[in-house]
Amino acid sequence: ATPMSVMVATGKGATMGVLFKNAEAIELLRQVDTLVVDKTGTLTEGKPRLMSIETSGELDSERLLFLAASLELGSEHPLAAAIVNGAREREIKPAEAESFESVPGKGVKGRVDGREILLGNRPFLESFGIEADFLINLAQARRVEGETIMFVAVDGKAAGLLGVADPIKSTSQEAIRKLHEEGIRVVMLTGDNRITAKVVAEKLGIDKVIAEVLPEVKADKVKELQEQGRVVAMAGDGINDAPALAQATVGIAMGTGTDVAMESAGVTLVKGDLRGIVRAILLSRETMRNIK
Ligand code: ADP
Ligand code: MG
Repeated sequence: ATPMSVMVATGKGATMGVLFKNAEAIELLRQVDTLVVDKTGTLTEGKPRLMSIETSGELDSERLLFLAASLELGSEHPLAAAIVNGAREREIKPAEAESFESVPGKGVKGRVDGREILLGNRPFLESFGIEADFLINLAQARRVEGETIMFVAVDGKAAGLLGVADPIKSTSQEAIRKLHEEGIRVVMLTGDNRITAKVVAEKLGIDKVIAEVLPEVKADKVKELQEQGRVVAMAGDGINDAPALAQATVGIAMGTGTDVAMESAGVTLVKGDLRGIVRAILLSRETMRNIK
């Protein structure tokens, strides 16, 4: 593109809340045929709410929630905020944990009120040799409602589960329909469970789901799509998404997300609204047409 057309596109983009890092970002975006999107905070609001509590019967649900919320006080994950807020809404006051450790993409671990607590996905509990088989049917029933499930273990035994729901952004569906009109395939990439991910994907008409992906593997998944001949844009909001944004032909950061994501991206959407991607793509195509 000519410097003039790039300047015009950059200016137009800015008025629409689409910030291009440089001319290259505009040129590459035009060629994109696949958009990979992170689920939490990109397709969804990123503000999950506690919806369900199930226990094995040994502890009551208030005690389970107290232990879980106390541990999550140390975590910055949106799921942690859902549990802490869920406890406070039920007038349960979390206490300070005696120890705390976070394992990205898996869960949290620590000591609360003299008890050893694990809280996270099923593989996380299993990595400590804890079976949660008796909770699986309960978990599946919540997942088909679109809830994300976290399992709780107390002193080495599965004690219950917590389910949270993250509302889909009202703008996501329209954005995906328009991307399809532009011939772009949409792929969801998430650390969440396969069933929960599929429920959300089906509501939105997403073409492909890659679920149960650890944060450090997200970039590899983008690379695999590129090796299949796809020209990939990746949209995400979290620190965990930064390597995948950098791997993508065009990284798209949600302006409502972390600074790290924005630094790794060629495009930033100020409003954190997926419809901005459609605008950015149309603008890049228009710009390149003008100079031919
Ligand atoms: P996403 O790709 O949706 O951002 P993550 O990769 O951050 O998800 O997490 C994947 C899964 O690991 C979550 O669905 C949850 O089961 C578990 N997990 C991660 N962090 C936490 C936490 N702080 N507390 C409980 N569970 C967690
Ligand atoms: Mg995330």
